[in-house]
Amino acid sequence: MIVVRTVTDLRAALRGRRDGAVGMVPTMGALHEGHASLFRAARAADATVVASVFVNPTQFDEQADLAAYPRTEDADLALAEAEGVDVVFAPDAAEMYPSGFSTTVSVTGPVAETLEGAQRGRGHFDGVATVVTKLLLAALPDRAYFGAKDAQQVAVIRRLVADLGIPVDVVVCPTSRDEDGLARSSRNTRLSPEERRRALAIPRALEAVADAALAGLRDIETLRARAVATLEASGIHPEYVALVDPASFAPVTRLDRPVLVAIAARVGATRLIDNTVVVAGDTGTGDA
Ligand code: AMP
Repeated sequence: MIVVRTVTDLRAALRGRRDGAVGMVPTMGALHEGHASLFRAARAADATVVASVFVNPTQFDEQADLAAYPRTEDADLALAEAEGVDVVFAPDAAEMYPSGFSTTVSVTGPVAETLEGAQRGRGHFDGVATVVTKLLLAALPDRAYFGAKDAQQVAVIRRLVADLGIPVDVVVCPTSRDEDGLARSSRNTRLSPEERRRALAIPRALEAVADAALAGLRDIETLRARAVATLEASGIHPEYVALVDPASFAPVTRLDRPVLVAIAARVGATRLIDNTVVVAGDTGTGDA
């Protein structure tokens, strides 16, 4: 495995490896099993696997969150190597945002302006879109891998890749969960044992909606209320519980196609997000 810190060195490392497909997995480090599942998907499909490790300052809306973001480079490199990653691109902020940097890739519309875009502010997805565009242009991979856990990020990236005509296949990997159902996240290490137990209400709320949908419930407000009730029962007051179109993030009024259920909530000081896609079962008629 090679570790490179500059775009020039990344391109040099990839030169001569273009016979087979190149797969890229952008990350912010603090790597865990969720990231490893992306590395494995890339390893299975691509001749060369590139991982980027860059804590992108421009996508953080809270300076405290950026400052507290775990930085574990030695462990990250060990995990990447163990998963068969060929090249790690780990630039510093000056490499990504050199002096005079003045360009922002800004996706507009509900896909970027609602939910995470509304809670964290416009700058969040502008930061994500700009850094992902730069990473894709730096490595020019055939495929880029993202986790379904960040569903809105996936939708924003799909939009910018289509709109800018970036020649890359976006591959979405399922959310990797701990045994107890909690979606793996670099921020989970900040949860106390008691907070972690309470946080399990988030996957339970998603399951409650999925079960109700499968049982035939189609009224969106009623489905939403199921999730909210499950969260509130554990003392979690969500920032949002939303049922939206998985691609456009436009609101839906009826469960007549696959619908994304997205939750954001603070548990203690830690902000967690999770989601699932639900479909209507064909057994019920139900507006109940
Ligand atoms: P991050 O380092 O949090 O920016 O995440 C890097 C990539 O890993 C993103 O595409 C995330 O969606 C993905 N990822 C993070 N956690 C998980 C998880 N639990 N399951 C699947 N993918 C994940």
